[in-house]
Amino acid sequence: MGQALSIHDIKQDIKSLNQEELTEFVLSLGEKPFRAKQIYQWMHVRHVSSFDEMTNISNVCKEKLKDSCSLTVLQQAMVQRSQLDETAKYLFKLSDDNMIESVRMKYRHGNSVCISSQAGCRMGCRFCASTLDGLVRNLTPAEMLEQIYRIQEDIGERVSHVVVMGTGEPLDNYDHLLKFLQLISDENGLNISQRNITVSTCGIVPNMRRLAEERLQITLAVSLHASSQEKRLKLMPVAKRYDIHELIEACREYFDKTGRRITFEYSLLGGVNDKTEDAVQLAALIKGLNCHVNLIPVNPIEERDYVQSNPQAVMNFKAKLEGCGITATIRREMGRDIDGACGQLRRRQIL
Ligand code: SAH
Repeated sequence: MGQALSIHDIKQDIKSLNQEELTEFVLSLGEKPFRAKQIYQWMHVRHVSSFDEMTNISNVCKEKLKDSCSLTVLQQAMVQRSQLDETAKYLFKLSDDNMIESVRMKYRHGNSVCISSQAGCRMGCRFCASTLDGLVRNLTPAEMLEQIYRIQEDIGERVSHVVVMGTGEPLDNYDHLLKFLQLISDENGLNISQRNITVSTCGIVPNMRRLAEERLQITLAVSLHASSQEKRLKLMPVAKRYDIHELIEACREYFDKTGRRITFEYSLLGGVNDKTEDAVQLAALIKGLNCHVNLIPVNPIEERDYVQSNPQAVMNFKAKLEGCGITATIRREMGRDIDGACGQLRRRQIL
């Protein structure tokens, strides 16, 4: 005979609820709706790390919350600060002892945080360290939010920009990603403008189509890294599922539905995808699409032998694209000395 689950077995992940859901939950505890507003503020504006800190909540209500909910709070296990720039990489411990990494970057326009969307990753891109040990699990919306909240509390400054470009494939954790986007851009929460949020995907086409239907004002960055199906297959296993032309078609649809220009990410791997012919082929592939190409000299990782394109090849590639009418920029890598740059985040353990 099956055993009935008690409320203690399935605690509500209260920080992952939007305002409507929170109100409904608070009502189910026999509390008034205004309590939901207060609790929401403590979690998403004040960033408290325990129910006890919610000083305007009655003790009775606090006890009910402790009994029925879990309050996700990430533990800061380590911070590495770059000597080269104001980049810092944070190692956070989750409640099940998994570790994830996030990066803070300081720009003239404000603080940007790069968050992880999964513990590990199952996409298998050949040049990326995050995928070496596979996927452990999806992060909850609260765990995504918390990376930003903890960093904001640590630096004592507002975080104004978010990039979902850390470990994991955000569109492989679609529902949680969507809830996260709703919460982080909520005017009663941290209120980060959707235009200041970028989600980077390796190209999970059906979920790109679903995302387009949401008509959000976020930027979608698509990791292309190759100009032909054949070359992409060698670098990114996801290409087996979705052909490069199907991917480009989905990008076109994304722009048509949202009016948001697509960013293509293209990591330059010396001798692999950085020749003039590659640039010409890339330009032809994305011609007529409202887009922008972000060139990233590949960051070497220990386990693979890809090398960076030389600076001349990078400049030539950019010039060739521009000559074909495609706007391109070279990404300024930050925090490379702390392995905080693209593709260098990984599962870590503190021994
Ligand atoms: N899964 C998502 C987001 C995480 S990776 C995606 O694939 O887009 C963020 C970006 O870093 C992607 O464009 C990824 O392809 C790129 N990247 C991964 N490893 C890299 C490396 N070693 N050097 C440079 N860029 C890398």
